[in-house]
Amino acid sequence: MLHKVEELLHVVCPSCSRIIDPTPNGCIAMRCAHCSKAFCWCCFQLAPSGDAHAHAMSEHGSYFPPLAYVAAWHRRMRWLGLTALLGKRLDPADRASALEAIGAVPLLASHRLWPLPETAPAPPMRIDAFSEAYPPTIRLVLADDGLDALQAALDAGEDIDSLDDRGMSALMHASHAGKRAAVELLLRGGADASLLDVHSCGALSYACREGHFCIAGLLVRACTDRGAVGLLHEIAANRVLPFLAAKLRTAAGVGPLFDAIVRLGASICDDAGSSSRAPPWELGGGSSRAARRALSMRMLSDTSLPGPHCYYGWTALTWAAHCGALPQLQALVGWLRRCRSSSAADGALEGGGRTPPFAIDSPVESSPLGAAWREGHMRLFDWLLAELTTREGWARELRHAAIKEMLTGQWLGHV
Ligand SMILES: [Zn+2]
Ligand SMILES: [Zn+2]
Repeated sequence: MLHKVEELLHVVCPSCSRIIDPTPNGCIAMRCAHCSKAFCWCCFQLAPSGDAHAHAMSEHGSYFPPLAYVAAWHRRMRWLGLTALLGKRLDPADRASALEAIGAVPLLASHRLWPLPETAPAPPMRIDAFSEAYPPTIRLVLADDGLDALQAALDAGEDIDSLDDRGMSALMHASHAGKRAAVELLLRGGADASLLDVHSCGALSYACREGHFCIAGLLVRACTDRGAVGLLHEIAANRVLPFLAAKLRTAAGVGPLFDAIVRLGASICDDAGSSSRAPPWELGGGSSRAARRALSMRMLSDTSLPGPHCYYGWTALTWAAHCGALPQLQALVGWLRRCRSSSAADGALEGGGRTPPFAIDSPVESSPLGAAWREGHMRLFDWLLAELTTREGWARELRHAAIKEMLTGQWLGHV
């Protein structure tokens, strides 16, 4: 009985009942990593359309409600589960003694469910009563007609970068919501586009994950103007580059943004030897050439993507090859060559992904070469082969023949 109470205090998917991380990164428009159903993280309604964003904004009034509001809804969800477990026939006194008898009191108290409310907690549908938890800048970004008022608040000295209880700024909210005019106003006003919230997500990753690539472009430009290192940290931390590479074939507008980020990374590698314009605390590991190169390499070699469905273990290189995006792949390889010795770069071209990329017989599932071969992008495949230099005493032709043979065997084996 006690373990059943423990179980129902978890937050679970309303469709498949799998337990979900209670502090997920992202907004309340959720998608279950297991069954792929979309639902609302507050009221746990399923979204038949497959996307709960519209529900979140129209029913609750925010994609990122204050945490106290979310907690109030989760308390209701737990109460409903608890009373279902106890059975409707028991009166409140019986319920309390049953719970005391099994020792559930401390557990329930920590979820503000002791004493057990007699009726279901009923938080308000909209966040209005909770919106004091937002700084004024965020309240005004969320309001449909708030732009003039936002400008007036900034003119009156309101802090443009003030944060809510998730560590999110007005710029992050606006970027996630696709509110371009608000983003432009905030950037003009000097908002810091390189801030990260408590989940280490920033405006750029919120814009990218919602497909607002035009806004992402504005953010990249703003960061470039100010010194780009904070932005590069975000790209590295949130695996923005593989994510964008994965979208290359489908999302119009992602290509130019991808190119801009690659150029930015390459330029940072290029002037790594010169004195840094960015303050050293932005660089994390120090402002040395090595630290900058390590950062750039992280961006190129990180494998997984934001979002629950995309843990393929692919790098940006592999995604670009998979999509047949030759210009982008060439730009990435150029960047790689600036950051690494040629043999290490070759290794990344052959291997990539999760597996150690430096052996010719390493699994090719996640390599750029394998992805190009599998998808039939033979021009891209040939370009990649030609890029490989001779290593470990292999003659170039022998080496290429071995790779082709390995790929042929590998993929024939799959058929
Ligand atoms: Zn599910
Ligand atoms: Zn809802």
